[in-house]
Amino acid sequence: MEEIKERLVRYGKHLGFDLVGITTAEPLKQAQAELDRRLKAGISSSLASGSPAERTTPALLLPGAQSVIMVAMAYSVDPQLYVQDPQDNLPREELEEKSTTPYRGLLSRYAWGQDYHHVMLPRLSQLAAFLEQSIPGTHCRVMVDSGPLLEKAMAVRAGLGFFGWNSCLITDRFGSWVFLGSLLTTASLPPDPYRPRTCRECGRCIKACPTGAIIAPYVVDPHLCLSHITQTRGTIPEEFRKPLGNRLFGCDTCQAVCPHNATAAWGNHREFLPHPLIGSAPRLEMVLGLTNRSFKATFGQTAAGWRGKNTLQRNALINLGNIGHADAIPLLAKALKDPSDPKKVAAAWALTTIHTK
Ligand code: SF4
Ligand code: SF4
Repeated sequence: MEEIKERLVRYGKHLGFDLVGITTAEPLKQAQAELDRRLKAGISSSLASGSPAERTTPALLLPGAQSVIMVAMAYSVDPQLYVQDPQDNLPREELEEKSTTPYRGLLSRYAWGQDYHHVMLPRLSQLAAFLEQSIPGTHCRVMVDSGPLLEKAMAVRAGLGFFGWNSCLITDRFGSWVFLGSLLTTASLPPDPYRPRTCRECGRCIKACPTGAIIAPYVVDPHLCLSHITQTRGTIPEEFRKPLGNRLFGCDTCQAVCPHNATAAWGNHREFLPHPLIGSAPRLEMVLGLTNRSFKATFGQTAAGWRGKNTLQRNALINLGNIGHADAIPLLAKALKDPSDPKKVAAAWALTTIHTK
């Protein structure tokens, strides 16, 4: 099995995974108890699927599972490799109107490039096929944030990294700017050693969080977290509109301040360079002018597209209110007539915010 493991890890690296680690399919008992506690305390994410038992017990996701192969791909990219303002390349005919306001919204770094699910899942399937061919009778299941498995905790046990107080998985080489994927298998492979470690425990992430969402070391309340809120449908509660600032999708604040990321290496995956028509901080007027067709052709290619155009445009309207310039008023007034209620509420709030400045 050692030889197959070596070949598997080599093939995983050849497929573009930066880190590959193996752990057993033993249930994550401590993590399950913690998930149960958070469920009872009302601080679990509505975006996560599966019960605490399913999330922590690989055999409930793949009958007969013996091992879990965890992979990571770094998504940080060297700023020298991309232009900061690609908006001038936008196909104007795809937009409803021309841009006149230059105000921008911030996209979380993980959503800059190609949707990581589409990048990683086919490669994980290739890795699974390799294993199935190497050990006949083997069954596999692959997931990239697409099943219940508690991937971060599994990655820690597979030796890929350790938890930060901000609840991110932190790797030695790439910091927390990594995507995770998992391959559950009935093959029994030699596990990598678990290395119990902690982050530097500096507390910067807790201090920097604009909404106090990191309620204790390692515990993020999703209902307070702006990253979660930007992805939730409906009206954004009033108390979060100001702290949202110009975050258009996601929030990187607790990762950006982490000292582990200050010294992290850049990844080298061109797939995660900012989308050529969107960039890392798109103009909000462009976002508000997107039709269904142009949304699909731009944000639909990234991890910021899954919640749809209306959610992103709702965020953009709040961003404009926070930026607070009067020349956004015509755009906001137009959005008051939008058929989507959360967008109407966001536009009305933004107009009031601008008028009362
Ligand atoms: S992502 Fe933003 S809002 Fe959420 S915990 Fe981190 S800093 Fe706070
Ligand atoms: S900012 Fe400090 S406390 Fe927070 S995860 Fe990083 S090292 Fe840990």
